[in-house]
Amino acid sequence: MELPFSESFKIKMVEPIRKSTREERAAWIKAARYNLFNLRSDQVFIDLLTDSGTGAMSDRQWAAMMLGDESYAGASSYYNLKNAIKNIIGFDYFLPTHQGRAAENVLFSALVKEGDVVPGNTHFDTTKGHIEFRKAQAIDCTIDEAFNTTLDHPFKGNLDLNKLENVLQSHPQENIPMIIVTVTCNSSGGQPVSMKNMREVYKLAKSYGIRVLFDSARFAENAYFIKMREEGYGDKSIKEIVKEMYSYADGMTMSSKKDAIVNMGGFIALREEKLFKKASQFNIIYEGFVTYGGMSGRDMNALAQGLDEGTEFDYLDTRIKQVAYLGNKLKEFGIPVQEPFGGHAIFVDAKRFLPHLPKEEFIAQTLAVELYKEAGIRGVEIGTLLADRDPSTRENRYPALELLRLAIPRRVYTNNHMDVIAVALKNVYDRRSEISTGYRIVNEAPLMRHFTVELTPALKETV
Ligand SMILES: *Cc1c(COP(=O)(O)O)cnc(C)c1O
Repeated sequence: MELPFSESFKIKMVEPIRKSTREERAAWIKAARYNLFNLRSDQVFIDLLTDSGTGAMSDRQWAAMMLGDESYAGASSYYNLKNAIKNIIGFDYFLPTHQGRAAENVLFSALVKEGDVVPGNTHFDTTKGHIEFRKAQAIDCTIDEAFNTTLDHPFKGNLDLNKLENVLQSHPQENIPMIIVTVTCNSSGGQPVSMKNMREVYKLAKSYGIRVLFDSARFAENAYFIKMREEGYGDKSIKEIVKEMYSYADGMTMSSKKDAIVNMGGFIALREEKLFKKASQFNIIYEGFVTYGGMSGRDMNALAQGLDEGTEFDYLDTRIKQVAYLGNKLKEFGIPVQEPFGGHAIFVDAKRFLPHLPKEEFIAQTLAVELYKEAGIRGVEIGTLLADRDPSTRENRYPALELLRLAIPRRVYTNNHMDVIAVALKNVYDRRSEISTGYRIVNEAPLMRHFTVELTPALKETV
């Protein structure tokens, strides 16, 4: 008999989590105005709000922290991280930052000006925010297949070369500071980009004299999907695949809170010295001196170790199989989920889950609240609340998809937790016809409202 799959780690430190009663949860979520961001973490049993900064560090990462060098300039921890980036990614120049969006802020300060266009594959919200803040435009060139949730395609993060070439043709070179390839594409559900696509995008970019940057938060998960799905890569190691990926880029921004498995941190890495020097000025203003830029020495040490562990096959296999384990359980229960499964999260299609609710009542948020009430599980709405209002008409924007995202922290939960999540959602699914009301807004911020919005049931609550 073939041995079953199991985790590639054992556990030597644990953090107790507390189960609550249905009555407690009903009171807590009401007091939180039906916004899961307002809950205290001890009111949550299984926290799937995000996989960002929520991973468990390894014994080696904790050991590396003890060797952190906190010197202001030239710390050994800086050189450890510089070596790790050179060895794993291949770039000579790097700047530490306190997280991914800080890397964007620093690098785009050096690159993006008013009137520019930045083509890419569905830019992440902070990336888009940093482009639009500079009065430039992010242009989405993702393949059309990415927007069909039921279509099976191995690389839904790919860029459409025709869409991309149209942008390159219709704007002068000096107005295109870069093309951004997001690996994996977070906004379309953690979908990977193929090596072939990276190669072709780079070739096209070079023929127009444009630089290519990778928004790299989940670059290792992307490499895993290349190994598993793309012809010619099955026998290559993750580290070999990562090296080749970055041979098709001129630089990168990184949120280390994802695939580098640290709780806080980020960086910029570059091939060009000239751009590095320009970006260094902004790093000093916004983040800190070039050899620490917003990070402690101990954190740079843990990050260097995390980059190495995060690009090991056994770790990635454990992680991505756990995400798929949850996805398959949900599918067995007939729950509508987005496919193929992404690397870091499962997305539940809330419109197909609660087809009787009107879109004005925030369908995915309603599902998120029901799942919390059912078992203390915290997911996050990717739907109308997140989409905000149209900046000019102030009308609600209704996206094509209302999704409940269940993001899985790295090395934190076991498959028993996945079973609890799946059964909790099944229980909600079984009683879905009794969910007779969604929510309406009582209070909202003008921008990024989903973090602080206050809600109340759309129908009068029956006591
Ligand atoms: C998380 C993320 C960012 C922003 O990083 P932070 O560390 O949260 O600031 C940028 N791009 C992508 C693709 C991300 O997933």
